[in-house]
Amino acid sequence: MTMIRTHAAIVLRPTPFQEGGLIVSFLTEHGERLVGLAKGAKKPAAKWVSSFEPLGLVRVSFFGKEQVEVRRITRCELQHSPLTLGHLESNLVVACLADLFDRIAREGVEDERLFRLLSACSRSIKARPDEAMAVLAYAEHWLLHCLGVLPHPRTCGYCGNDSAPLVMLSDDRGWRCAACTPVDLQEALPPGSREYLRLLRTAPAEEAPDPSSSEAARVITELLRSRLIRELGGKVGSYDVLHRMLT
Ligand SMILES: [Zn+2]
Repeated sequence: MTMIRTHAAIVLRPTPFQEGGLIVSFLTEHGERLVGLAKGAKKPAAKWVSSFEPLGLVRVSFFGKEQVEVRRITRCELQHSPLTLGHLESNLVVACLADLFDRIAREGVEDERLFRLLSACSRSIKARPDEAMAVLAYAEHWLLHCLGVLPHPRTCGYCGNDSAPLVMLSDDRGWRCAACTPVDLQEALPPGSREYLRLLRTAPAEEAPDPSSSEAARVITELLRSRLIRELGGKVGSYDVLHRMLT
């Protein structure tokens, strides 16, 4: 059966396709990744020329059979964009977030947490572009949680201790503490790591803690980021650009 379906969705990644068209991936309001073909989207006369910016919130209509992989986009209206003209850092963070969610969301799998998380991040970046790096660290933390690879930091995953400082994040037992895991002081997580993790878990996106506010915040941010990138196969292109700009 052929039909038109309309979704509230967030634009993830537009990729140029033959004859000035674009293949665009979206995260729907149900948290599913959908891909559509916009024919002639790059021609100046196209009615949707600005509708496919990364992380734009849109209403998009697809035309096509239920089972085909790439449906045709018949209509796409931009309702909200997180981009801030001339604000390089926040716009790079937008690109990183689009990349991450494009890799994590799946076709045929609905995960509404993904849409809620990405819309909250998008709104926060627009409201406070100077704090975009905090929103990125916040999103990375929750994406690890959604992927099921980030245990709760309340208790040590090995001995169950809930008061000794956390010293490391292990692959098999999650967070491990000083009571059961002897780690060289130089290599152990800095004091305050559990407290920073607790802040990440409890704050809404618009109050995401500053990832450079303390040694613990810096180390945990770096740790979670590299864990996430490893989970995604070791390479997320937009991070290279962000790193080059920030160093
Ligand atoms: Zn322990």
